[in-house]
Amino acid sequence: MNLFACIAQNERARGKMAPPGRSGARRRCQRLLYWVPVLFISIIVCWSYYAYVVQLCVVSIESIGEKVLCLTAYHFFVILFVWSYWKTIFTPPMNPSKEFHLSYADKELLERESRGEAQQEVLRRVAKDLPIYTRTMSGAIRYCDRCQLVKPDRCHHCSICDKCILKMDHHCPWVNNCVGFSNYKFFLLFLAYSLLYCIFIVATDLQYFIKFWANGLPDTQAKFHIMFLFFAAAMFSVSLSSLFGYHCWLVSKNRSTLEAFRAPIFRHGTDKNGFSLGFRKNLRQVFGDEKKYWLMPVFTSLGDGCSFPTCLVNQDPEQPPTPAGGNTTAKSMEGHPFPAKPLRDSQSHLLTDSQSWTETNGNNEKCILGMSNPALTMENET
Ligand SMILES: [Zn+2]
Ligand SMILES: [Zn+2]
Repeated sequence: MNLFACIAQNERARGKMAPPGRSGARRRCQRLLYWVPVLFISIIVCWSYYAYVVQLCVVSIESIGEKVLCLTAYHFFVILFVWSYWKTIFTPPMNPSKEFHLSYADKELLERESRGEAQQEVLRRVAKDLPIYTRTMSGAIRYCDRCQLVKPDRCHHCSICDKCILKMDHHCPWVNNCVGFSNYKFFLLFLAYSLLYCIFIVATDLQYFIKFWANGLPDTQAKFHIMFLFFAAAMFSVSLSSLFGYHCWLVSKNRSTLEAFRAPIFRHGTDKNGFSLGFRKNLRQVFGDEKKYWLMPVFTSLGDGCSFPTCLVNQDPEQPPTPAGGNTTAKSMEGHPFPAKPLRDSQSHLLTDSQSWTETNGNNEKCILGMSNPALTMENET
């Protein structure tokens, strides 16, 4: 049994011993505390609305034309920003579908078996008809002891949500939600629109901020709101631009934050580019096929979150060769039998586009196996 399974068992044992009333109250308190960062952001957004609309546009800007222009553009940005933030927070993360869950008989069998190899036999039989290509570091089927299911590719257990999350990116305290398959597009748009919102404020507030320093503005309340608004927007612009830039790079490589820290492990070995299909297709996996919806916070990501097209299928000797990828020499293999899976329609569609295979599989680069980011709450797989 892996390390996580042992931890989970201990946690369950602790849970049984603790008085139910107290642990329930503690959990409720914890859940309330998780909303503090969201509340903090919401207060800042509400204050920035007051500072910009009332103190800057209504009180400080004299020209009617400039007032109207600033207020219209501001409301355009703030609506998109709040809309995408709302969708990121309140879109529930998706969990693995029924077929990944163990049947009652299999759960019993798994609990009865004490040897790791015998347990793996059970899991291999369960996983044989599932579209999974990734393994644990030791080459075993990825299994979540907590949720009692075979983990789909790119799915991880979040210790804060206490659930397996499809294509988990990370658990974000600023939205008090797991960022994963169901809301990754919303999260990207939230970063983009919040960055645009801050840049817009900096750009339009700048001349009044300069006037403040040059003592050109009367000594009123507006003066201080304008100054703090400029500082706050400039500060958030810097941090948001680096985070947004990083996520743009991740999308272009078709990697999640977790996969950037620890590359996915396939049957032939570790490959950080295992899910990359080339820049255009990687973009379409997150944003969908219809460009008119790309900039709107509506769900358009491709696939079901449980299985993902991978160019490596074509490099697996157990899979039939296809003309698109060619059956190239396999990398180091380990012997877990797993049948070839036909790609679903959406996957085949992604794989047969004329823009295929613009990326190589950079297998020579060193993979980062450690988790150094405290914000990442994925379990360790051994
Ligand atoms: Zn789980
Ligand atoms: Zn989570």
